[in-house]
Amino acid sequence: MARTRPAAPALAASGETPVTVLAGVGPAVAAKLQARGIGSLQDLWLHLPLRYEDRTRLSAIATLQPGSAAQVEGRVVAVERGFRYRPMLRVAVEDDSRGTLVLRFFHFRAAQVAQFAVGARLRCYGTPRPGQHGLEIVHPSYRMLGDGEEAGLGDALDPVYPVVDGIGPATLRRLIGQALERLPGEAALEVLPAHLLDGLALPSLRQALLAMHRPPADADVAALAAGTHPAQRRLALEELLAHHLSLRRQRIALQQHHAPALSGGDRRVRQLRQSLPFRLTGAQQRVFAQIRQDLARPHPMLRLVQGDVGSGKTVVAALAAMLAVEQGKQVALAAPTELLAEQHLANLRGWLEPLDVQVAWLAGKVTGKARARVLENIASGRAQVVVGTHALMQDSVVFHDLALAIVDEQHRFGVHQRLALRDKGADGRSVPHQLVMTATPIPRTLAMAAYSDLDVSAIDELPPGRTPVQTIVISAERRPELVERIRLACAQGRQAYWVCTLIDESEDADSSPAANAGRMEAVAAQATFEALSAQLPGVRVGLVHGRMKAAEKQAAMRAFKAGETGLLVATTVIEVGVDVPNASLMIIENAERLGLAQLHQLRGRVGRGAAASSCVLMYQAPLSAMARQRLETMRQTSDGFVIAEKDLELRGPGELLGTRQTGLAAFRVADLARDAALLPGVHALAERLLAEAPAVADRIVARWVGGAARYASA
Ligand code: ADP
Ligand code: MG
Repeated sequence: MARTRPAAPALAASGETPVTVLAGVGPAVAAKLQARGIGSLQDLWLHLPLRYEDRTRLSAIATLQPGSAAQVEGRVVAVERGFRYRPMLRVAVEDDSRGTLVLRFFHFRAAQVAQFAVGARLRCYGTPRPGQHGLEIVHPSYRMLGDGEEAGLGDALDPVYPVVDGIGPATLRRLIGQALERLPGEAALEVLPAHLLDGLALPSLRQALLAMHRPPADADVAALAAGTHPAQRRLALEELLAHHLSLRRQRIALQQHHAPALSGGDRRVRQLRQSLPFRLTGAQQRVFAQIRQDLARPHPMLRLVQGDVGSGKTVVAALAAMLAVEQGKQVALAAPTELLAEQHLANLRGWLEPLDVQVAWLAGKVTGKARARVLENIASGRAQVVVGTHALMQDSVVFHDLALAIVDEQHRFGVHQRLALRDKGADGRSVPHQLVMTATPIPRTLAMAAYSDLDVSAIDELPPGRTPVQTIVISAERRPELVERIRLACAQGRQAYWVCTLIDESEDADSSPAANAGRMEAVAAQATFEALSAQLPGVRVGLVHGRMKAAEKQAAMRAFKAGETGLLVATTVIEVGVDVPNASLMIIENAERLGLAQLHQLRGRVGRGAAASSCVLMYQAPLSAMARQRLETMRQTSDGFVIAEKDLELRGPGELLGTRQTGLAAFRVADLARDAALLPGVHALAERLLAEAPAVADRIVARWVGGAARYASA
């Protein structure tokens, strides 16, 4: 990955120094670090602890509390090896407080078993949980003590770092320790001009890094855990600044490009508006007017259109497309799933083909001769509007004259994919306009930080004639009533969704990677499908989940859309964009497990027709306080923006935006929900920096963002 480093000023040299200068870092270790984006000493300084372990004191076993980590010292009183389901080793430890603690191991070596002789002394650290025989710690970190050995206590909290694959925690700690030894003095490290930081009452960068990596025993642990420690605020400020600067620069760079000015006639737009079976809402008109202004300029538009589910974004996109078609240019519309893309295709064909606009379709399953033909039509310009999936972004797709790239549900795509589509129209002289649509309303502060490279418009009004969805929250015990309700709805010719969500048995998120979650969700959906099919003999039941082949999924969706099936059992794959107006009942199982944004998206699948609709949020008791708040919010409002604000408050921005894809997950310290108050200051700082010291801006971006090269190449 190409790293964009500024010409290294002498003072920064130590930060740019490669990790290979450290003892114990040969090519193999360096490669493992590099895989995690760590190439320089600076990258190690910024590899910040996730949390801390307090080994500065000992706790009496009798005083241990489940769930709170502690260090204890004691003597082995019993050892038991078992093989019931899998190998297991249990070691009971007691101390003078007469409390007993069980240490449990699932992976262990014979030498370890030998260590734990009854009477042996040891010290261990971990988080006790209620077990079969009182409190137990699974896989504690521990060390044996010799008879009469007095082990001292640490005088600083022990940092726990994010894992780097292939490098053990002790090695990682040692490497970071070595890198910190090379931390330059205040003046050399600090690149922000001092006067810009005046009045913020924050520590210097050097102080902040040391406080994070080596907090003293009396550090404000609660503030560190909450992320509100001044050291974290100092780092967050600089990190937010770096991201903002990088987006700003990207935007400025893009604005230097030329784009086809789509001004001139509006015959095509008028044709489409006249042929629509409805009038545009005020919000649709306003947003289209904004887009139209952007498109008329000879520089690329970069606009995000936010609109709640059902607010009618597609027709706005179609109108924008007509402005390009009018000028004899091409438009691409990409959606993240085949289902969604197909729906756009159906809409656009329905609206545009009667007006003699050629709409082409390109998805993964278009292969062989058909694919060659589509590619040929795209390359020759015969295809005026091309709708598709990721397939549109492949190298083999060459446009004749792409003027507008539209991306739906952009948070499902990576930044890179969005840019790949843009690059399709770049011919050295000009780049296409970009229109991004999302149904996930994003609170303003967040949008500013996440999309400082985009202009944002909101379609904040639903088309008339929709009846609001009634939302009901009930316990899973009342499931039989729901089955009856479905039977009634279907008997009246209406349709229903039953959404199965994953019940994650393991509390340990690390042990259930997404693939596994998808499989479990599919299994749950299959079981529910079978149960409901048996309980509802008069109803035709369909099934759709992420593990089905694309063709099977399509078939199931199509059958539901066509009304051939009355009940659709589904996993959250139906989340985005699917439009079946006749569906008026949705049941969401384990609703307490889902985030607000997702619940809102799901609920948006009903209430699309004139019939009164309801959404039943079914939960497994007992509800956590957080889950209760979420469900209550859902009951109270259907305003996507209100829900988004609440979601931000409850869960933080990563989840809200679909973490990884946005690049926001790349934040090392900053948390947009927590640090939102810093943003106005960050923006002001960025303006001054760009005006007064652009070279400093480069160094800050290189330090925080450059290494990850996420935006650098954008
Ligand atoms: P979303 O914003 O969720 O993508 P869609 O574009 O799929 O919404 O629109 C939802 C439905 O509303 C579609 O059936 C669409 O044809 C219809 N629609 C869009 N705009 C209007 C309007 N102004 N009046 C009535 N119906 C509309
Ligand atoms: Mg849509």
